[in-house]
Amino acid sequence: MSTKKDYYEILGVQRDASNDELKSSYRKLALKFHPDRNPGDKAAEDQFKEAAEAYEVLRDPEKRGLYDQYGHAGLEGSGFSGFGGFEDIFSSFGDIFEDFFGFSGRRRSGSRAQRGSDLRYDLTLGFMEAAFGIETEINIEKMETCPTCNGDRCEPGTGPESCRQCGGMGQITRNQGFFTVRSTCPVCRGEGQAIPNPCTGCRGSGQVAVAKKVSVKIPAGVDNGSRLRLTGEGEPGRRGGPQGDLYVFIYVEEHAFFQRRDSDIICTVPISFVQAALGDKIKVATLNGDKKLPIPKGTQPGDVLYFKGEGIPSLRTGRRGDQVIQVEIKTPTHLSKRQETLLREFAELESSKLSKKLKNILKGGASQTAN
Ligand SMILES: [Zn+2]
Ligand SMILES: [Zn+2]
Repeated sequence: MSTKKDYYEILGVQRDASNDELKSSYRKLALKFHPDRNPGDKAAEDQFKEAAEAYEVLRDPEKRGLYDQYGHAGLEGSGFSGFGGFEDIFSSFGDIFEDFFGFSGRRRSGSRAQRGSDLRYDLTLGFMEAAFGIETEINIEKMETCPTCNGDRCEPGTGPESCRQCGGMGQITRNQGFFTVRSTCPVCRGEGQAIPNPCTGCRGSGQVAVAKKVSVKIPAGVDNGSRLRLTGEGEPGRRGGPQGDLYVFIYVEEHAFFQRRDSDIICTVPISFVQAALGDKIKVATLNGDKKLPIPKGTQPGDVLYFKGEGIPSLRTGRRGDQVIQVEIKTPTHLSKRQETLLREFAELESSKLSKKLKNILKGGASQTAN
C-alpha cells in the first residue's frame, strides 16, 4: 500500500549489504545531495532526507530486521517516524557527518535561530501581600530587539554581505596531506555573513539594553521559594528564535504575630490561668481582622485552638488553611492583697479535696493489704 521507496533501493545496495557498504553508499548520497551543495534545490533536499531515513533504519539491526520482515509497515509501531528536517538529520548523524565531512554537517551553525535568555528577578513581598496576592510592577533591565535595525544588525538601507574569508560557508577548509580539515570561519564566526555597515543604534549587535516595567500578578498563597514564570518576558531570540522567559523568585517577609506553615498560620496568645480554668472569650487577630475565640473551661498549657479556614489560600486548590492558636497560660506575678487571700482560700479547698482523695486511696490500699 505504501508509496514509499524501498530503503535498499534508495541507498543503491543489495539486501544483504554489510554495514560498511551501507555507510559508504550513504556517504556518497549525503555528499551529493548535501544542502550546502544544492542550495534551494527541493529535489536534492528530498533525496538527502530520503537517504538519511533509509540509512537510519538499515544501520540499526533491530529496525532493519523489522523492515526486512514487514516492510515500511513494520516500522510504524517502532516509534520511528522519519526526520522532520535537516536539524533532525544533523543531530541524529552528527558523529557520522563528523566522519564524512570533518565537521558536524550543520550549515553555518552560527546562523541557527537561538532562543533568548531567561531572566531572573527577586521579589520581596510583605506577609499579607503573599497571603492575598497582589498586582505589582517590577523594573527590569533587559535586552530588546534593536528598534533601528529590527535585529538585522545592519544600518537601515544596507544589508549583509557574504563573508569573503569563507565565501559564505561559515567554514574554512585546509588540506593536510590526504585529509581535508574544516573549521569554523574565524572572521564571521560561522555565520557566513559579514556586515559592512553595522547598525549605529546597537553597534551591530541587533539588541539594545532597555529598562522595562513589567506588571506581575502575584497569586494569593505564594510562599518563600515560589517561582513565577512570565512566558516571553525574557530577552529576545536571535535570528527568529523565540523569546526567553522571566522568572520571578518570591521572598516573603516575616510577620510580627503570625508564622506560616504552608497554608496554615500559627500564632501564640497569652491567657491567664483563671481564663484557662474558668473559660472565656477573647479577641484574637486574624488575617481579616479581630475575631472572638472561645477558651474552653479547663484549657491546659500546650493546648491548641483553631480558627478553621482563616489561614492562607493554597496555591493549588485555593482552599484556605487554618489559623492555629497556641495558648500560653500566664501565672500572675503581682497579686493584690485580696487576690492573694482568695487564692489562699482556693488552695485550702484544693488541699482538703486532695487530702480526702488521699485518705480514700490509703483506705483502699489498707483494705487490700488486710485481705
Ligand atoms: Zn566567514
Ligand atoms: Zn540595530
